[in-house]
Amino acid sequence: MSNDTAVMADGDARPAPRGEAPQGKHWAAVPAGREWSVAEPGKTCRFSQGRGHPACGREASVAVSRGIGNPVPWHYCPQDAYARYGVWAENGKVMRWGLEND
Ligand SMILES: [Zn+2]
Repeated sequence: MSNDTAVMADGDARPAPRGEAPQGKHWAAVPAGREWSVAEPGKTCRFSQGRGHPACGREASVAVSRGIGNPVPWHYCPQDAYARYGVWAENGKVMRWGLEND
């Protein structure tokens, strides 16, 4: 599995969920959705604080497919992927936290 964990560019483990789960439920890592994929090697994060700001440029870990008809992948580094979208790459898949009943 060492190959797969290299996807986490910063070497972090699975990020902690934000906040406590509601009573009767718990957080579970679930697939993020088919629009998300693990980034190809060498791609860099395109997150920007806004128009006129440079792109983040860190090594990307995940990509999300954007656009209708001919979607293109937008790449994000681990930090921005989780901060902005709550997703991370793990074992060759993109995951997010979901609530499950206890
Ligand atoms: Zn970034």
